[in-house]
Amino acid sequence: MHFSDPAGKHRQPQTWVPWPPPKDYQLDSRPWRLPPHRPMIISGAELVDPEHGETVKGMDIRIEDGKIVEIAPCESLSGYRDQRNATVIDATGLYICPGLIDCHVHILAGLGTAEDEPGTEMENDLNTALGLKYMLSNGFTTVRDVGGATAKHRYSTESWLTPGPRLFVGGPVMSMTGGHGDHRSQFDMLSTNSPYGQFYNGGMEHTSTIADGVDECLRTARKLMAAGADHVKICTSGGVLSPYDKVEAAQYTVPEIRAVCETVKALGGTLTTSHCNSDLGARNAIEGGVGCIEHGGMLSRDTLQSMKEKGIHLVPTLIVQDAVVNGPLRPYVSKRSYEKAKTVASHSEITMKDAVEIGVNIGYGTDYVPMFQLAEFDLRAAFLPSKEVLKHATCNAAKILGMEGKLGCIKEGALADFLLLSANPIDNVKILNRPDKHLKAVVKDGRCVKSSVKGLPVEVELF
Ligand SMILES: [Zn+2]
Repeated sequence: MHFSDPAGKHRQPQTWVPWPPPKDYQLDSRPWRLPPHRPMIISGAELVDPEHGETVKGMDIRIEDGKIVEIAPCESLSGYRDQRNATVIDATGLYICPGLIDCHVHILAGLGTAEDEPGTEMENDLNTALGLKYMLSNGFTTVRDVGGATAKHRYSTESWLTPGPRLFVGGPVMSMTGGHGDHRSQFDMLSTNSPYGQFYNGGMEHTSTIADGVDECLRTARKLMAAGADHVKICTSGGVLSPYDKVEAAQYTVPEIRAVCETVKALGGTLTTSHCNSDLGARNAIEGGVGCIEHGGMLSRDTLQSMKEKGIHLVPTLIVQDAVVNGPLRPYVSKRSYEKAKTVASHSEITMKDAVEIGVNIGYGTDYVPMFQLAEFDLRAAFLPSKEVLKHATCNAAKILGMEGKLGCIKEGALADFLLLSANPIDNVKILNRPDKHLKAVVKDGRCVKSSVKGLPVEVELF
């Protein structure tokens, strides 16, 4: 890891100190902490405004303490150019775009897919850390984990111990017995020897937890909130990768769903979100008070209409379905999961088109490994305008996180998470899936992690 010294030259972290150490030497309990932000001025870039689907020329952007503090016509910021330690970047010919937001990831899945041998705990942790770096390197400055990541993961990227996107976390997913998050085998389910309990679910207790009945749902939601969840996810329909449930099944009753939703709301969470493919599962979830539906491959127009009326968001995940049906996940899933993925995939495009027409707030989601996280742009752009798709990964996603005006936009008062691009994503959002050609810089929290732009040094090296 590099960080800039006040003179603007890179220096290496202090990995060695002579013995005896200098008299004024002090041990640092968190040596990964970065020095204070250096002010930054981005000059000459065309500003991408996804909310209005347009770009703005001729503005300079002033960044201090990791925030965008001023956007003004180029000349008016000239007084700041000589500010001590300020990095002034001539970004003429480039586009400044808000950092991307993926609203549906599983960071604990790391890179690749499960093999026969489960990894050691340390291997899994390092795999997670590597996956986070891949995401940030591809331009995702924020991700919302919906299955396993906790406050400790959020802290690790916030503090830069692990360079990665900003994390919004929910802890393990809540599932009913036999639901999408119950990973026990069908044949173990009734065995008297099968361990059973609140946090036993077939060996995947980090990613999901089983709760049945209103009381258990209440207790689990309270526990998740106490553990620092931003949101809570429940499963209200069957899933593609859960081997035994029916994808069209409705899971959890309305009173159970309501118990979770009311708890999350009362305790200050952003919302309860629901893993849900089926229309019936979505209707129950809506009645119970969820704020968002994940996947939502088979929703009817009536259901989408009531989502629009109640302000409930939708986060489709096309890439994971395509990866199971046509891509590299195919060899790793059972025949049943493959058939289920085909069913969901065949409906998803229709549902999404309907949702756009009806005006549901749609967020970008992938549910998949970091290397293919950008491919969702291509899949959506195949049937939706680029302008619309860019909103999914920026301003719409910020609404889902309760971070409107702070993330997913280049505005005064927003956090300094942005990309410098060589092409305009409003004209063609698929350029985002060619980071090798078009992604010139990634800045998160006012700190550059990737750059080939002259005058913009990398402050934190990812690899
Ligand atoms: Zn998922």
